[in-house]
Amino acid sequence: MRSFRDLTRLLETRRALVLSGAGCSTESGIPDYRGPDARPRNHRPVLYQEFVRDERARVRYWARSALGWQRVMNAQPNAGHRALAVLERVGRVSGILTQNVDGLHQRAGSRRIVELHGNLAHVVCLDCGASEGRSELQRRLGRLNPGWTDGGEGGVTGSTVRSAPDGDVELPIGAVEGFRVAGCLGCGGVLKPDVVFFGENVPKARVEEAWSMLSEAQALLVVGSSLTVYSGYRFVVRAALERIPVAIVNLGPTRGDDLASVKLEGKTGSVLAALADALP
Ligand code: NAD
Ligand code: ZN
Repeated sequence: MRSFRDLTRLLETRRALVLSGAGCSTESGIPDYRGPDARPRNHRPVLYQEFVRDERARVRYWARSALGWQRVMNAQPNAGHRALAVLERVGRVSGILTQNVDGLHQRAGSRRIVELHGNLAHVVCLDCGASEGRSELQRRLGRLNPGWTDGGEGGVTGSTVRSAPDGDVELPIGAVEGFRVAGCLGCGGVLKPDVVFFGENVPKARVEEAWSMLSEAQALLVVGSSLTVYSGYRFVVRAALERIPVAIVNLGPTRGDDLASVKLEGKTGSVLAALADALP
């Protein structure tokens, strides 16, 4: 089933748990990895093991992040995020499991959210466990690397900087040389953004909470995710096993299409806004 009417018919009698992905935030100007407009990356995302073991990997990560952070900071929730907050308020949506790390669901007013992959707004110390706000760290990175964080780009010309998903930017090889990474304020240890990297598991308590939200759900509504990443896809698999109907709103194919009762091709902004209007 693939019409908007099929979607409203499914959801008018069922409270839905939402699983959101990067496609939900592209209309806020944050690119996704695998959509039709996603550009091929000249580097792959850093793996957890690499980040922990290799100081050069951390220098590359933080140099790029220092430039890309501003874009995530400036992003505003779009019509899709706002519609989901309304649908929760009127009791149509029971909560959101999000794979996004941009915090836009919170800012739009959604309340019950599990951030499966964490949030870029925080960093943690791998040595002592202390946490620090990303904005505060940005100020420290700016002091250590004058010109990098204020749009000056420290000798890297604007045309060579390309924004990439999750607060990262593309930089030519060699451009990060000399970038100075900041350590933990308490112990001087290694700081890592409080997000789940490739090669890292979602913390157990967070997955448990997500499973428990799924077990209470009457439907699972996937919005803006290719479901390529297993940590999101597994909720669709479990829903299908437990006969919880799955609806997917996405531009382009997803790994869960065969498991969905309704698959609607469309933009999350317009489809979710229409859904909030259609479901009183
Ligand atoms: P993905 O990039 O694999 O898939 C996004 C999907 O959304 C694509 O199929 C694309 O065609 C579709 N899409 C793009 N714009 C859309 C729109 N306006 N309406 C409807 N569909 C749209 O994203 P994913 O499945 O979330 O997996 C990406 C991984 O990378 C996640 O683990 C996530 O943590 C991370 N990530 C996060 C952000 C963010 O926080 N905003 C951005 C990029 C990547
Ligand atoms: Zn520390």
